[in-house]
Amino acid sequence: PVRVRIAPSPTGEPHVGTAYTALFNVLLARKLGGEMILRIEDTDQSRSTPDSEQKVMEALNWLGLDWAEGPDKGGPYGPYRQSERKDIYPPYVDELVAKGHAFKCFCTRERLDAMRDEQRRRGEQPKYDGLCTRLSPAEIAEKEAAGIPHVVRMKIPETGECRFTDAIYGEVSIPYATIDMQVLMKADGMPTYHLANVVDDHLMKVTHVARGEEWLSSVPKHVLLYEYFGWQPPQFMHLPLLRNPDRSKLSKRRNPTSLSYFSNQGYLPEALNNFLGLAFVAIADGEELMSLDELAARFDPASVARAGAVFDLTKLDWLNGRWLREKLTDAEFKARVFDWALLNGKLDGGLALARPRIARLGELPDLTAFLFRSELGLKKADFEATKNGADDSALILEKVSPMVDTLAEWSREAIEEEIRRISEEMGRKVRTVIPPLFIALTGSSRSLPLFDSMALLGRSIVRQRLKQALA
Ligand code: ATP
Ligand code: GLU
Repeated sequence: PVRVRIAPSPTGEPHVGTAYTALFNVLLARKLGGEMILRIEDTDQSRSTPDSEQKVMEALNWLGLDWAEGPDKGGPYGPYRQSERKDIYPPYVDELVAKGHAFKCFCTRERLDAMRDEQRRRGEQPKYDGLCTRLSPAEIAEKEAAGIPHVVRMKIPETGECRFTDAIYGEVSIPYATIDMQVLMKADGMPTYHLANVVDDHLMKVTHVARGEEWLSSVPKHVLLYEYFGWQPPQFMHLPLLRNPDRSKLSKRRNPTSLSYFSNQGYLPEALNNFLGLAFVAIADGEELMSLDELAARFDPASVARAGAVFDLTKLDWLNGRWLREKLTDAEFKARVFDWALLNGKLDGGLALARPRIARLGELPDLTAFLFRSELGLKKADFEATKNGADDSALILEKVSPMVDTLAEWSREAIEEEIRRISEEMGRKVRTVIPPLFIALTGSSRSLPLFDSMALLGRSIVRQRLKQALA
């Protein structure tokens, strides 16, 4: 039976690229009559958070992209969270070492850094030089006995090339000389992505691996691992990246990429699926408005353009507008408006904050509108008019911006603590730092309390508003 998977790493906010890959997998599973599983790839414990995992699942649910097995649903091949599978990997690593396909590497960070610097100086792509492949069994035993920490790396053939067929890229060949002796297991016994991904795809009986193009260059490592284990590799399908209209890679520094941004802005999940799915269908008769069922009916991996899909927000707006006008009944439209207002606790949170501050209900719209607006439409003059002035405002916004990505938890308390810390670092009183933030985030110097408002707006809208204020 056909089994596909999505394997997000729960770091940061769910990316529109995750929806794009998930949509492709859902459509593929439908076409081939298979099932999709959700596997959480959280082997990088320093970057993975439960909050991010929760958000990925919420975002996929919002889009209606459902899975048959996963951490929340269980299934016959669980657990579906790699951190809970830690004990599964070591025997596989031992097997590779015993068969001579992998080796223990005792090199220190200092040596590896010096080696890479030297390689870069020579204009070479940095890669492990194979020193520890030449250790004798006695030397290895000695180092282990002395308690020197080690990683395990995979061996790569010195010559030849890896050839494989990708269902989208066709025949691919990559010389082994370009492939690094990848670390499979870290010194703390945690597997790396490459090992865990291959072992899990095999154990979970995955037949088709459809994922972003950035993994195409890793396929030789994966193909070698399948060979070393004597397993049948899956069918690989790499999806061209989403691109900005100027063809550069979509990046959150340029465009919003977080799924929560799109839900907050009031895009319908159907419209976002429709928009992303256009990359996977051939449009013969020109009609581009398509539901998930219609996308599934016209889904054709052969029509995927290798040049990549252009992520054109104007087109998304056009499609979303058509969805609002043409695809929903009046009752459905109204229900969507309420769903959207309730999203992220905005309506409830906004009303609770506004209640002690009003005498008449008629004051509510002005007080809470900033929570729902698409654009604040601010001008430089709005900042010039503050006591801080334009330059100081810009300085403060610059200082505060990074917290949108660095704060582990996006709560009122964490936000307040961080802004207090930044003020202190700037040698300023919080009260002198806050006014430009009020303007940038709420559009007004008098509004609901700032830290609560930031929590309600969510990271992705705060990021967007800070960026616009600094533009
Ligand atoms: P940015 O460049 O904006 O920092 P990123 O590459 O750091 O983004 P990740 O968090 O590494 O984003 O990726 C999250 C998921 O989104 C991954 O599964 C990745 O494959 C996918 N992804 C990232 N960028 C794109 C893109 N341009 N097109 C398609 N998928 C993407
Ligand atoms: N964890 C990887 C990612 O988030 C998965 C890549 C894959 O599908 O193999 O991009």
